[in-house]
Amino acid sequence: MRLKDKKVVISAAGQGIGKASVLAMVGEGASVVATDINADALKVFDGVDGVSTRVLDVTDSSAVATAASDIGAIDVLFNCAGFVHHGSILEATEEEWDFAFNLNVKSMFHTIRAFLPSMLDSGGGSIINMSSLASSSKGVPVRCIYGASKAAVVGLTKSVAADYVSQGVRCNAICPGTVESPSLEDRMRALGDYDKARAAFIERQPMKRLGTAEEIAALVVYLSSDESAYTTGQTHLIDGG
Ligand code: NAD
Repeated sequence: MRLKDKKVVISAAGQGIGKASVLAMVGEGASVVATDINADALKVFDGVDGVSTRVLDVTDSSAVATAASDIGAIDVLFNCAGFVHHGSILEATEEEWDFAFNLNVKSMFHTIRAFLPSMLDSGGGSIINMSSLASSSKGVPVRCIYGASKAAVVGLTKSVAADYVSQGVRCNAICPGTVESPSLEDRMRALGDYDKARAAFIERQPMKRLGTAEEIAALVVYLSSDESAYTTGQTHLIDGG
């Protein structure tokens, strides 16, 4: 039980990588507060031992502050919320840019500011921020806004890690390649020919398959646990090669 006695808050926990991470973490003995903007999605955790749920829009700074005050001290914060925009810089709109930076980056500014003080009071903690391979790690076609926002997540992560490394708080970013998830299904359907889009997504993977949410959740567990105590300020690429 690698996460015994650890209290965890996860955003965007209702599906995909967030949901898989909740289940992996309770499997390792953690007590998890699973949050999501979508109340229906959180019903998946009804009756799951070790999980409590809370509807939370992480772009709402006052709701985040209230949640932190209600939940109290935690050991692990996993900022998973994010949205993928499709398009090059000439196809992007200013509204899409603002939406992406608000959800993909500024939400982490809110949650870290809200939950970090209690970690400092209790002598430590682990913050995990969801970035992407499409970020400062790699330029990916038609992912202009997304890649820019996920690169900002890397910068935020390294900054927080540097500021609090001497006070026991670690901060790492996860950079997955393409992972099976409900929103990926939506993105493939939106391209018109679902089978062709799926084949193209798979063909560009060196392992000729997509990642699974459970494979990313295993990395989340590691970064949450004391096994990763010597790791901070890093981007952890997990992209099937
Ligand atoms: P997903 O996109 O299928 O689900 C996202 C969840 O976020 C949903 O449950 C939704 O209700 C919730 N959400 C949306 N807006 C929110 C808000 N304002 N506040 C709180 N919750 C909100 O899940 P996924 O594909 O596993 O993606 C999760 C994260 O992983 C995202 O940050 C994404 O950018 C990142 N990521 C995904 C992939 C991939 O291929 N799936 C690859 C790299 C990175």
